[in-house]
Amino acid sequence: MAKHETKDKKVTVVGAGLVGTLEACFLAKRGYQVHLYEYRPDIRTLEHVPGRSINLAMSVRGRTGLKAVGLEDHVIKNHGIPMHSRMIHNTDGTTRAIPYNKDGQCIYSVGRRFVNEVLLNRAEEFPNLTIHFSHKLTSCRLQDGQASFLNTETGEEVNRKADVLIGCDGAYSNVRRAMMRQPFFNYNQTYIPHGYMELCIPATPEGEFVMPANYLHIWPRGQFMMIALPNQDCSWTVTLFMPFPIFESLTTQDQLLSFFQTNYPDAISLIGRDRLVKDFFANRALPMISVKCSPYHVGSTALLMGDAAHAMVPFYGQGMNCGMEDCVVLDELLEEYSDDLATVLPAYSAKRSPDAQAIVDLALYNYIEMRDLVNSRKFLFRKKLDDL
Ligand code: FAD
Repeated sequence: MAKHETKDKKVTVVGAGLVGTLEACFLAKRGYQVHLYEYRPDIRTLEHVPGRSINLAMSVRGRTGLKAVGLEDHVIKNHGIPMHSRMIHNTDGTTRAIPYNKDGQCIYSVGRRFVNEVLLNRAEEFPNLTIHFSHKLTSCRLQDGQASFLNTETGEEVNRKADVLIGCDGAYSNVRRAMMRQPFFNYNQTYIPHGYMELCIPATPEGEFVMPANYLHIWPRGQFMMIALPNQDCSWTVTLFMPFPIFESLTTQDQLLSFFQTNYPDAISLIGRDRLVKDFFANRALPMISVKCSPYHVGSTALLMGDAAHAMVPFYGQGMNCGMEDCVVLDELLEEYSDDLATVLPAYSAKRSPDAQAIVDLALYNYIEMRDLVNSRKFLFRKKLDDL
């Protein structure tokens, strides 16, 4: 197949999160003229970045994506904390480790902000890649790659036409919303009746981990669970997952402490009684959504990637990993079809959508595995999604 020139092709990527920034790097590396638009200001200039999960589990899918743009070593070797096993915390305070596999393979705990900043730094190294922060996509015309943005600092409207518009604008994607008006675009979203809240186990006064570091700690409790992933500063990000009615029933300090005393007694001293009360009532439980759709493309001019295409509940630890794998798969198809976008985009939908939908389902199943069946694997295949 004849090679299609990339240097004159313009791409607009919407969303400079983990997937959009990586995809922008992949395309810039192939020679495209890339413009990356992000709603938020540059997170590298912010003291506090609001948003989801402070840290994430990175697996081989994510690492492969980072490796292709020369960042795997920087993120994994210099920053990632290996987690070789799950550490199960029982209500009587005892713990036991369950390795992920026999070969010592592991996943890595990485900071969301760190990974996003490293990707932005890399993106800025490409002369053919421009990042526009504080630009919110307000509308788009998918058939001709046209997008309009509001510059949230100046109030100015910015219009950009590209050969292809790629929506990496997350679970509540505006690009996907535009796609929903296309004939034969199928879409399904599901909220689970459980929410999540992040808490923190601090480092010791000496600046060390209070629990063994190289584990993903899990407190499985049947209908709900708590997990903790290690951070670089020796603190732990703790995530409490449970049905919203349970969150809503804990309205006083006594109710909260009694709930923890019954279900997570060891966590009270790990988090600290006062901090637990302060953080729990300062936070609110957030919802979790699954999204399935297909196809991911419109003609040769628009494409969805990352959570915009396949948001999933976080229990399989694969949302970011799968989104980074999207970038690898698209790159392979661009290579295979010599950057012929009219061939590549439909091929991407056909290849990627069934795989991503399977991972969305696995993520739901893994909630049952983690919160319940980590203790009794024999039930794994008996339970149904209805149990959620
Ligand atoms: P996002 O990270 O949502 O980025 C989208 C970007 O688009 C954002 O920067 C946003 O500001 C921007 N944007 C949105 N709308 C607009 C607009 N209109 N105009 C311009 N820009 C816009 N995944 C894992 O692999 N491992 C884990 O351990 C893991 N843990 C998780 C824990 C929790 C509690 C949650 C909620 C998720 C977890 N995930 C995990 C999933 C992971 O967070 C997502 O899959 C990942 O962030 C998806 O990246 P993305 O770039 O597609 O979307």
